[in-house]
Amino acid sequence: MAVHRHVTVERIRLKFAAAHMATLGDELEPLHGHNYLVRCRVDGDLTDDRWVIDFSALKRAVREVCDALDHHFLLQERSPLLQVERDVEGWSIRFRNRAYRFPASDVVALPIENTTAELLAEYIAEQVVTRLASDGHGNLTKIAVDVEEMPGQAGGYARDLP
Ligand SMILES: [Zn+2]
Repeated sequence: MAVHRHVTVERIRLKFAAAHMATLGDELEPLHGHNYLVRCRVDGDLTDDRWVIDFSALKRAVREVCDALDHHFLLQERSPLLQVERDVEGWSIRFRNRAYRFPASDVVALPIENTTAELLAEYIAEQVVTRLASDGHGNLTKIAVDVEEMPGQAGGYARDLP
């Protein structure tokens, strides 16, 4: 019989407020924001202490990623539809007759094609994986992240860990 154990963290300060504009088809949403909520689950074997992972270690990793996004404009740097240019002072974004200019300090440029909840979940998951890997945690077998844009509406990402 296969047994799977997991730990989930959510709610307490695992959130961020950010602005974005996603593309849909060949349209670009107006600039707007969300109070995003993040839920992270890791599966794994029990350690000698009978933990999958210490809750506080997982919360810290997720919170660090949330804090880096909080109160920023989330830019999909790999968008195939936006013309994105970076100079020393900031970012210029063009879409047809719309032009935006953001100072560098207001922007988190993400290596993703669109700022959907699904891709934000993937980005956050991979950032958490990097943080956990640098702290050990070789017993973990899977990570899953859900990003809720608004109540009852979340995008998710999960993958096995090597
Ligand atoms: Zn949105």
